[in-house]
Amino acid sequence: MQTLRSLEALERDGLVESDPRLAEAARAMAIAITPEMASLIDRTDAGDPIARQFVPSVRETEIAPEELSDPIGDEARSPVKGVVHRYPDRVLLKPLHVCPVYCRFCFRREKVGPGGEALSPAELAAALAYIRERPEIWEVILTGGDPLMMAPRRLGELIAALDAIEHVGVIRIHSRVPIVDPSRITGELLAAITPRRATLWIGVHCNHPRELSPAARAALAMLADAGIPLIGQTVLLAGVNDDVETLEQLMRALVSARVKPYYLHHPDLVRGTSHFRVSIERGQELMRALRGRLSGLAQPTYVLDVPGGHGKVPIGPAYLGDDPDAVQVRDAFGETHRYPG
Ligand code: SF4
Repeated sequence: MQTLRSLEALERDGLVESDPRLAEAARAMAIAITPEMASLIDRTDAGDPIARQFVPSVRETEIAPEELSDPIGDEARSPVKGVVHRYPDRVLLKPLHVCPVYCRFCFRREKVGPGGEALSPAELAAALAYIRERPEIWEVILTGGDPLMMAPRRLGELIAALDAIEHVGVIRIHSRVPIVDPSRITGELLAAITPRRATLWIGVHCNHPRELSPAARAALAMLADAGIPLIGQTVLLAGVNDDVETLEQLMRALVSARVKPYYLHHPDLVRGTSHFRVSIERGQELMRALRGRLSGLAQPTYVLDVPGGHGKVPIGPAYLGDDPDAVQVRDAFGETHRYPG
């Protein structure tokens, strides 16, 4: 089985029916569903949470007035091509725009895809020079696109170039590959991406417990066995994981796979994605429910990327009351207690 890359392929596979509005949706964003993900889709369930993430919907042609083409303001914070410098001590470096799957809710949906250019050698050299010249940059986050789609040799060269910059202490790779295309995690890749000096972390994007297939778990085990710390990133998505049981199972499955849940992202104001959006109030309610069900190890931080490039802020529920004369603490089960002081 091959990656499904066109509406025709999806039609043949029984995942969509012919509709001109789908062609419009497919023009706005490429299609890719790996065999690993396609095999997880329950074709008898019209609301299947795996299909919902990757199969184009006619709802993508509805653009709400508040939606943005660059919802987290990457462009406003990009001093050189491929670099986003939002916080003093870290940068994003985007060497390519290709992904193993195309997630319909993606916050970079207008940038990712096979037509999107990768950085040329000269542009990559300029991006590395930018990092080299700024000793305050301690962490470099490789994102894209998906950096683990690069050939191991090329990615290894990039990591070696970053490793040679003394002030870069941490190199972080953000990827969906271990989950959606786990056969790409090989000994050759591990040998290529392991830096000699800096510390490598990998952030794994995973939104539903079913995504943690045996093959995905084996790929994560290879990374963890190689000593690479793993963190989980989840996007809160209507119809995919906006219920407490699914989130609970997902966070438990991630911790069991040695992935520390890191962020639960509030969905961004991406054009054509209103059908994925959940209210902040609902997100807080879910976080409150998770607090009563899961240990601290399995709790992600619920964050909002402030539109305009202003960065992430935690937006989880508050546990302290606003009485100026007494500290009131709300426990994980909703009861309020007075705390002296
Ligand atoms: S893998 Fe990541 S960057 Fe690529 S489409 Fe999905 S969310 Fe966007």
